[in-house]
Amino acid sequence: AAQPLRHVDSMATMPSGAGKIPYLNAVILGEALASEENDLVYPSDDFSRQAHVPSPQKYLELYERSIKDPGGFWSDVASQFYWKHKWAPDHVYSENLDVRKGPVQIEWFKGGITNICYNCLDRNVESGLGDTVALYWEGNDLANDASLTYSQLLHRVSQLANYLKDIGVRKGDAVIVYLPMLLELPITMLACARIGAVHSVVFAGFSAESLAQRIIDCKPKLVITCNAVKRGPKVIPLKDIVDAALVQSSQTGVSIDTCLVYENALAMKREKTNWQDGRDIWWQDVIPKYPTKCEVEWVDAEDPLFLLYTSGSTGKPKGVLHTTGGYMVYTATTFKYAFDYKPSDIYWCTADCGWITGHSYVTYGPLLNGATCIVFEGAPNYPDSGRCWDIVDKYKVTIFYTAPTLYVTRYSRKSLRILGSVGEPINPSAWRWFYNVVGDSRCPISDTWWQTETGGFMITPLPGAWPQKPGSATFPFFGVQPVIVDEKGVEIEGECSGYLCVKGSWPGAFRTLYGDHERYETTYFKPFAGYYFTGDGCSRQAKLANLHKSMFRDKDGYHWLTGRVDDVINVSGHRIGTAEVESALVSHPKCAEAAVVGVEHEVKGQAIYAFVTLVEGEPYSEELRNSLILAVRKQIGAFAAPDRIHWAPGLPKTRSGKIMRRILRKIASGQLGDLGDTSTLADPNVVQQLIALSNC
Ligand code: ATP
Ligand code: MG
Repeated sequence: AAQPLRHVDSMATMPSGAGKIPYLNAVILGEALASEENDLVYPSDDFSRQAHVPSPQKYLELYERSIKDPGGFWSDVASQFYWKHKWAPDHVYSENLDVRKGPVQIEWFKGGITNICYNCLDRNVESGLGDTVALYWEGNDLANDASLTYSQLLHRVSQLANYLKDIGVRKGDAVIVYLPMLLELPITMLACARIGAVHSVVFAGFSAESLAQRIIDCKPKLVITCNAVKRGPKVIPLKDIVDAALVQSSQTGVSIDTCLVYENALAMKREKTNWQDGRDIWWQDVIPKYPTKCEVEWVDAEDPLFLLYTSGSTGKPKGVLHTTGGYMVYTATTFKYAFDYKPSDIYWCTADCGWITGHSYVTYGPLLNGATCIVFEGAPNYPDSGRCWDIVDKYKVTIFYTAPTLYVTRYSRKSLRILGSVGEPINPSAWRWFYNVVGDSRCPISDTWWQTETGGFMITPLPGAWPQKPGSATFPFFGVQPVIVDEKGVEIEGECSGYLCVKGSWPGAFRTLYGDHERYETTYFKPFAGYYFTGDGCSRQAKLANLHKSMFRDKDGYHWLTGRVDDVINVSGHRIGTAEVESALVSHPKCAEAAVVGVEHEVKGQAIYAFVTLVEGEPYSEELRNSLILAVRKQIGAFAAPDRIHWAPGLPKTRSGKIMRRILRKIASGQLGDLGDTSTLADPNVVQQLIALSNC
């Protein structure tokens, strides 16, 4: 029954008479233009020839079919997976995204019976990948590594699944997972999926309080954790954090009977671990005793797979719920096409499984494709800033997917074939550096725009299919209809900028916010009736500073993410995306990184406040401050000139690589007493350094 994923282009071709779709017209027309003039970066002919989607025409053909006939398109894709029973052919999906017509509801492949763990593991083992490495593990310290083949992974997952069943975890039960990037983290996710339990991974950098909130919210059957983890040179006692969280949760009436604890002996011996007899159980004492075979719990495509809280960059985290079938089909397909995945690839995504990127593109997407991927426990700068490139070299990584704020040192690695970027807009200067230096001007960059809510990539290059523009996420994935609307919710055509919404559903869409369907509708579907509202701004014009003028620039249809709508700054009535000002600053040769926020201003309404990190060794000076401001004036206009440049030795970033602008806003406006939850920061010291430099 098991088969490797087929090529989409072996599907039926699009219905004849399909209407025109405005994307990419200029690319097709403009192929003769010199790349420098048009600022288009073309994939090499060799690359394109071997790519899954080798040309804009091929993309358009597939894309048009996916929009005109979503049911047919996605049925063909979904048929490549194993289904115990198929969905009804006349009912591939049903949706209502319009609050005026009733409750928002999205379903894909309902009635189809499957299991995502079976599709990740058993199916691949049966098709001959049993001895292929599924996961390489690279530890925090240089000497520590490990690997699991697909067969070994299946055995380990089955043992844990048997244990979970044995202690009474049933289909639909929630399981909280508070683990660092050990192999046991994907193992746990897959074991839950195997028995139909709903995992909720909490990033193991969250505080006891944040963990308690999530435990209280989803009332899990058990908590799975480890005693400690090493992060760089530091040992972090995770079990103590869990203990504190469990005290807090029991005070509100949610008490947990079982805490399964993996002994991470490389970080801490079990003797040193605080213990509560009766509740706490060592993983190593029980799991290896269970059989390595475990029957799969077959579930409906619409049964929940996992619950994941958003990263909370903007406010209170939202419990995003994903279901099984659509998510499976969507993550596997986006992985394959956006990274042009081939069986010979070695894939590394630096994201932690505590974030959606780690769910979709460390665990599920790659394993569904039978890929070999790397799970990295450590930090990119430990023991030194060359660590990432050493890992790339050690495993001969061909596809490297990371956050644009994590690019640390200047090396290129010959094995690389494709680079990926996620989490923040990548500004053109960073794009060029990533492309020229890391990728040796050879590797296409997949700048993937998506969200926890979308399950998988939404706007992304298909490397090989079309030329890229540094800083643009380019075009929508199959089945995705991004639209840009104005304040009134009216769609704007052609060159424009506004609020990014999505029309219609796609298989990977989230189905609700856990326990709060009303908040789901209010947050995402009420702001612009009839559409899913992303919260992000987008412009479909070649307006960013580094783009040269070109005759096609207003027609190209490339998409530029301008940041969260909340981050748009309104200076005397001019709406400016933080991303735009940041790219202008970073284009200055002495500026390494910049983050821009708005502060209240008596006359202008809001003023621009910029935090700037200089390239290493560059001293602060008044002259430099002025030349940075001048760079913005020249590239965008006088109205966008920052009122304040705040020198920043480093910027506050989450471990997923996102700049926490809400903290920067507080510092900029002098509200130092109320910085909010800073527990997910990669380096909390940065905040103190910034405060110390407030008056410089
Ligand atoms: P919260 O919703 O709790 O504030 P969050 O939005 O940071 O948290 P995620 O779902 O992890 O949580 O991040 C999605 C957001 O990240 C997008 O809405 C967008 O703002 C940003 N983003 C992700 N990828 C890109 C990209 N390639 N280009 C630009 N922005 C991106
Ligand atoms: Mg968000």
